[in-house]
Amino acid sequence: MNFEWNEDQLLLKKEVSRLCSKFDDNYWLECDKAHRFPWEFYNAFAEAGWLGVAIPEKYGGAGLGITEAAIILHAVAESGAGMNGGTTLHLSMFGLNPVVKHGSEEMKQKYLPSAARGELHVSFGVTEPDAGTDTTSITTFARKDGDRYIINGQKVWNSKGKEASKVLLLARTTPLSDCKKKTDGMTLFLADLDEKYCTLREIDKLGRNAVDSNELFIEDLPVDESDVVGEVGKGFYHLLDGLNPERILLSAEFCGLGRVALKKAINYANERVVFNRPISKNQSIQHPLAESHAKLEAAELLWQRAANKYDNGLPTGPDANMAKYLAAEAVFEACDRALQTLGGFGYAKEFHIERYWREARLLKIAPVSQQMVLNYLSEHVLGMPKSY
Ligand SMILES: Cc1cc2nc3c(=O)[nH]c(=O)nc-3n(C[C@H](O)[C@H](O)[C@H](O)COP(=O)(O)OP(=O)(O)OC[C@H]3O[C@@H](n4cnc5c(N)ncnc54)[C@H](O)[C@@H]3O)c2cc1C
Repeated sequence: MNFEWNEDQLLLKKEVSRLCSKFDDNYWLECDKAHRFPWEFYNAFAEAGWLGVAIPEKYGGAGLGITEAAIILHAVAESGAGMNGGTTLHLSMFGLNPVVKHGSEEMKQKYLPSAARGELHVSFGVTEPDAGTDTTSITTFARKDGDRYIINGQKVWNSKGKEASKVLLLARTTPLSDCKKKTDGMTLFLADLDEKYCTLREIDKLGRNAVDSNELFIEDLPVDESDVVGEVGKGFYHLLDGLNPERILLSAEFCGLGRVALKKAINYANERVVFNRPISKNQSIQHPLAESHAKLEAAELLWQRAANKYDNGLPTGPDANMAKYLAAEAVFEACDRALQTLGGFGYAKEFHIERYWREARLLKIAPVSQQMVLNYLSEHVLGMPKSY
């Protein structure tokens, strides 16, 4: 067992941190306040060639693993860019994983090089207002019409929809009532987010405001047969393939966010003098931060193990889910404790912790809720009956 990064990975981390240092805390504060997509940051990463880190070299990417993608996102979040910075990039970095794994050769040639260059933005359209966590109940429907499909329906929480020209869209192609298994009969499309047929309505949300999330209304959207990802009717299974890498990458990103919150809290605590001594001399300030440090370290080890297994072709479901669960708990606790450490200034935007705290709260809900992770572990790891 080796717990150290190799030289290339250390260099990658250093280079990413160096690039991130050009985008300071105030840059992120302003993007968040103005609900402005951080184009300068995004373009810098595209130019550096890091968006295609996990896309095969044959299609213009770097052909590296989830481990390297996770190292990048960890360094991004840790720089103070937090989830605003991470989400700006992570959709480009793993969003097309189902295409890499299941797309036709033609589809890969057509889309992956421009995604690797950062020119093609793809958003994710899975969640629906009346289906939520129960994905098999989605009602967005794709009707076959000659050599194309016509799609109607509604999605919610479509992130980065305003910047994207494509949406990886899950739709039913067979009504649920005609399927033997609930998970059958859904198809994944790489559909155009064409405003003639698609209407976006931005959701005013708690945090991570540099990246928009939207309601998406779809009316008679035509999608060419060649834009079906993988097999018709197997979309749910193709999507599942992408969930473990997504959980691993996000766990790394969460841990980076926890790190920057702790760092800021410790710096503040060492400098802030109350009762004629730095507040960091109080154990009630030290211990919560020390405990959060230990919990973050544990979550880091789990995502690293999950990433290592994924890159070596081993099953990763339990590790990826546990990493997501522990990282979400650890980062929210770390941000909350950091906020408490700063006292009143923790609540002020100019100290940045309140932004991290708002971002950290999201992680217990998306991309999968903590309860659903526990459901998975109860059933698939511990062998208890499905409870719902
Ligand atoms: C900022 C943001 C960005 C997002 N971006 C995207 C995106 O780009 N694309 C996309 O498709 N989706 C996106 N999502 C959606 C996200 O994946 C869902 O919000 C999440 O999976 C939870 O689904 P839901 O909100 O429908 O909750 P619901 O399914 O309505 O559940 C509500 C609550 O009940 C709990 N619950 C439900 N059933 C059970 C059960 N059987 N056992 C225990 N607890 C249960 C859930 O855990 C949750 O806490 C985003 C969400 C947010 C907030």
